Amino acid sequence: MNKNPGDRRHVTVIGAGIVGMSCALHLLRDGHRVRVIDRLAPGEGCSYGNAGLFADYSFVPLSLPGVLASAPKWLLDPLGPLAIRWRHAPKMLSWLLRFVRAGRPQRVAEICDALSPLLSSALEEHLTLARGTDAEGLIRTQGYMYVYEDAVSAAKEALAWRLRIERGADVREIGGGEIREREPALAPIYEKGYFLPNLGFTVDPHGLVKGLGKHFAKSGGVMVLRDVLDVDIGPDGPRSLVTGEGPVEVDQIVIAAGAWSGRLAARLGSPVPLQGERGYHVIVPDPGIELNSAVFAGGRKFVATPVEPGIKFAGTSEFGGLEAPPNMARARVLLRHAKTMFPGINIENAREWSGFRPTLPDSLPVIGRSPVFENVFFAFGHQHVGLTGGPRTGRIIADLVAGRTPNIDIRPFRADRF
Ligand SMILES: Cc1cc2nc3c(=O)[nH]c(=O)nc-3n(C[C@H](O)[C@H](O)[C@H](O)COP(=O)(O)OP(=O)(O)OC[C@H]3O[C@@H](n4cnc5c(N)ncnc54)[C@H](O)[C@@H]3O)c2cc1C
Repeated sequence: MNKNPGDRRHVTVIGAGIVGMSCALHLLRDGHRVRVIDRLAPGEGCSYGNAGLFADYSFVPLSLPGVLASAPKWLLDPLGPLAIRWRHAPKMLSWLLRFVRAGRPQRVAEICDALSPLLSSALEEHLTLARGTDAEGLIRTQGYMYVYEDAVSAAKEALAWRLRIERGADVREIGGGEIREREPALAPIYEKGYFLPNLGFTVDPHGLVKGLGKHFAKSGGVMVLRDVLDVDIGPDGPRSLVTGEGPVEVDQIVIAAGAWSGRLAARLGSPVPLQGERGYHVIVPDPGIELNSAVFAGGRKFVATPVEPGIKFAGTSEFGGLEAPPNMARARVLLRHAKTMFPGINIENAREWSGFRPTLPDSLPVIGRSPVFENVFFAFGHQHVGLTGGPRTGRIIADLVAGRTPNIDIRPFRADRF
């Protein structure tokens, strides 16, 4: 807590996803006056439907050496794990070039070293943030598995596992026998895998953020339901947010608007190459089988997570711009995978969802004070690991607002690195 009332700021967080709510709660705990503004209720953006994993080992970038060799095969399959809408492709060229550059071996090592401290202790960070809130009961602390159908598909991800293990990830290689013992409902097609014992996940990512939002409001935080259309900037930085219902005066602002942060950051003098990367999920509410913990199907790149009630299958990456409608056939492909993974599953009454991950080409987020305006902070771009890294990001933003030095190196996350 800030002891000196002079250190009390009025902070407005734009975005009520896991990242924005984490920032808001940490700021509130520091004694600031905090307002969160979002056009939707807490947790209704990308944070609504993620797979729920606190994946502290997921610091390996999306771009790796050889990415150019695998991409065409994925891209030619319209329902494969990666798709680019061709109309959007020209707008992505410079992003793609940066993406490929981020896959050079030296840069991959730097990205892992930068991202790993942000994600480490994700479970503890979540438990701390959720303590005493409705979110607490939605967290499970149980290990989970990655499984591969054969040595060839496992070998394709060997580099990622090496990078994880070299950086201390707690991982154990397992064979088909142990895979079946841990999850008897799995088809007997998985020959190799990895068990990650000390992890956590949530059975309800939306409920988790909703619970944090409820606690925020109960603890004196102010929630404002509005669409931020623009920012009015004076000589000393932003003065007010332009909304359909009139201006909202601001003192300090945090941009935590997920995939929509790019436009706001550019308006504030910090253009960044942020893309909305669409992902999909299907929830099977009455699967008729038992799933003890999350299982990641390595080769096909999707994850099955126990939810209440049912099983969620989540994954796939699609780049088409923030305006393109979803292609729900991609969600239904996940159902097909579900059948292969669990032959005994009942897939009736499945519910589909899709949302935008905020993704930068180097797989690193933007976290820090704006290089242009003293009173602006950035907290976005967490790609596939926003649930994992959200609470620690909130702690970092609270440190920066209070003038404390964060306990991890945030220089790799600066907005002007591009
Ligand atoms: C299928 C899938 C599976 C995933 N699985 C995992 C996982 O297992 N583990 C993990 O760590 N991550 C996972 N992720 C990624 C994770 O969900 C995201 O990184 C995370 O939700 C991003 O959180 P956020 O708060 O930055 O964005 P969001 O949750 O999208 O929140 C941003 C908010 O800003 C608001 N907003 C934007 N612009 C404006 C504006 N102009 N005015 C007002 N409000 C605005 C939006 O309405 C939204 O509520 C997954 C993602 C997908 C799609």
